[in-house]
Amino acid sequence: MVELMTPREVPLGGPRAMTVRRTLPQRDRSLIGAWCFLDHYGPDEVSESGGMVVAPHPHTGLQTVSWLFTGEIEHRDSAGNVAMVRPGEVNLMTSGRGISHSEVSPPETTVLHGAQLWVALPDADRHTDPGFQHHAPDEIAGDGWRARVFLGSLLGDTSPVATFTPLLGAELVLDPGATVVVPVDETFEHGVLVDLGSVTVGDLAATRSDLAYVPTGVQEIRLVAGADGARLLVLGGPPFGESIVMWWNFVGRTHDDIVGARAAWQSQITGADGETVGAGHDVAAGRFGVVPGQPLKPIPAPALPNARLKERH
Ligand code: MN
Repeated sequence: MVELMTPREVPLGGPRAMTVRRTLPQRDRSLIGAWCFLDHYGPDEVSESGGMVVAPHPHTGLQTVSWLFTGEIEHRDSAGNVAMVRPGEVNLMTSGRGISHSEVSPPETTVLHGAQLWVALPDADRHTDPGFQHHAPDEIAGDGWRARVFLGSLLGDTSPVATFTPLLGAELVLDPGATVVVPVDETFEHGVLVDLGSVTVGDLAATRSDLAYVPTGVQEIRLVAGADGARLLVLGGPPFGESIVMWWNFVGRTHDDIVGARAAWQSQITGADGETVGAGHDVAAGRFGVVPGQPLKPIPAPALPNARLKERH
């Protein structure tokens, strides 16, 4: 029943590019619950490359969930939030109708290792106000395992972070050779991402950056760690039940939603001379706002493909 989703390497581009290992979306599976995007990266030695420097860019129709294993990243957004993303602490940014943000690692961060996740907002809530939540879950532990539950409920702990659809997000560390049976909500589908080590999920062996998909109708997930143990992210939610269109940093329902979002971003970052203008100078606030205190120039949207964007189901 368990299905192995293997990662593909994606270079993120830009002058200080990192390569990430992406398991969502894939051609045959776009969503697990409302989780619609999963990039796993590192550990990357970034002291010589200058670290992560992601200038202001827009989002709509989604929430970003940042989870780090090593390093720190400073988040700034157009709703006025400034926060550090730290290992073991979740930062959840709600774009709602529109937000822009920057992500920059401080000079002290020499190694970056983490996961960047997106959650699709349901149609009824995708035009909501932008927002931001931070939570540092306490570690819980049992026989052969330790966990931090950052969204939803697992293994007796519940995150206080509010979500628009039921969601699960947790880091789970298994001792070498440990067998752990994790009770789960049978109305949820789940994904088990392997960060370190190896694990058997049901009957299926998974290793670094693999995502093991577990369908609904399961009351427990049986995990057996390999000889080096395993560090995992366990994600889940009830099947989303809506089709979405995803392109660049936007989630919408139609091709025209995306065209509109792209045009709104381009118009607010383009000066009279057609050049991208520097944030904090003469950028119009617009739908995606302005990131205060961030001198980096905003990132222009790429060109749209010639074909109409396809709905993902
Ligand atoms: Mn972003």
